[in-house]
Amino acid sequence: MSGHKKIIIGNWKMHFTVKQAAAFATKFISKSVPADVLVGVTPNCLALSEVSGVLSKSAINVVSQNAYYEDEGAFTGEVSMPMLRGLADFVLVGHSERRHILRESNDYTREKCAAAFRSNIVPILCVGETLVERQNYHTNQVLNDQLSVGLADLTTEEVSKMIIAYEPVWAIGTGEYARPEDVEKAVAKIRAEVTSLYGVIAGASVKVLYGGSVTRENARSYLEINGVDGLLVGGASLSVATFWPIVEIAGAVSSVNKQKKKEA
Ligand code: PEP
Repeated sequence: MSGHKKIIIGNWKMHFTVKQAAAFATKFISKSVPADVLVGVTPNCLALSEVSGVLSKSAINVVSQNAYYEDEGAFTGEVSMPMLRGLADFVLVGHSERRHILRESNDYTREKCAAAFRSNIVPILCVGETLVERQNYHTNQVLNDQLSVGLADLTTEEVSKMIIAYEPVWAIGTGEYARPEDVEKAVAKIRAEVTSLYGVIAGASVKVLYGGSVTRENARSYLEINGVDGLLVGGASLSVATFWPIVEIAGAVSSVNKQKKKEA
């Protein structure tokens, strides 16, 4: 079972100019991050430097939306993991929009996870099935494939430190959200797959998030699921009024879990 600490990552996607991203980040400086919650925001690549400067004295982490897997070279238009050093603590890998719109393969995610660790950046590997895959009962197979390939170049120690986000593709940006009981099953499947690949400690230590049309109204139902360590939030992360209540709910769930652990 995972610990009581919750992780809330806001994915800003391709929104905000550099100026807008910096102004938005400024609104978070005065916010007090609840104990036992790790908060991250994910500006576009151009805004990383500015946002990381704005948030440098806050407790909020900066996450990159992407990076290439080679460390340097003739890869026009790409940004490497070493270039993220000092700007981002985490990097999204294999977000469904990159898999399905930009055609990134499982092999790409494998290379990117390994590249992130080479640069001391923690990868957040996104996995999840499409609607057709779900309707054909292929969810478990999809998760197996995405995990067995995506994690293949990592050590047990690295897998134990990383984050996996379960994001059913049909629930991303659609307003359709997964039933908590289905999320619980998928998250158990993810931990079981990690356990079979890397052992019991890795299966228990890896952090697993849910993502897909999360709002302040449904956040608690996911945060209370056994094995869910937090949330990857897209649309609702684009305003403080919709994002911060989710952070506060995570704080409340964390402190209840902490208390339960003490009493156990
Ligand atoms: C996401 O961007 O990963 C995401 C889950 O988006 P949304 O919350 O808008 O569905």
